[in-house]
Amino acid sequence: MIFIFGVNDGKEKATETNNTEQCSRCGNTANWMVSKKPVNASVFFIPVFPVKMVYRYYCPICSNGHKISREKYERLVVG
Ligand SMILES: [Zn+2]
Repeated sequence: MIFIFGVNDGKEKATETNNTEQCSRCGNTANWMVSKKPVNASVFFIPVFPVKMVYRYYCPICSNGHKISREKYERLVVG
């Protein structure tokens, strides 16, 4: 019996923050977004359980941004 294991990205959930940033890539000033996305372990390409969450903070216009910690994500979503 051969199992094929892998990981694949789950559905991303994006939230607008109250933080205004000027983007270094597109130059626009806007309220930046945060998102969280689960990375799922999969067997035969079927997601079975999330192994971790990936948090990002990024420009809503060109998607330029970076990964952030969960703590920072929660601060940005609440504040
Ligand atoms: Zn941008």
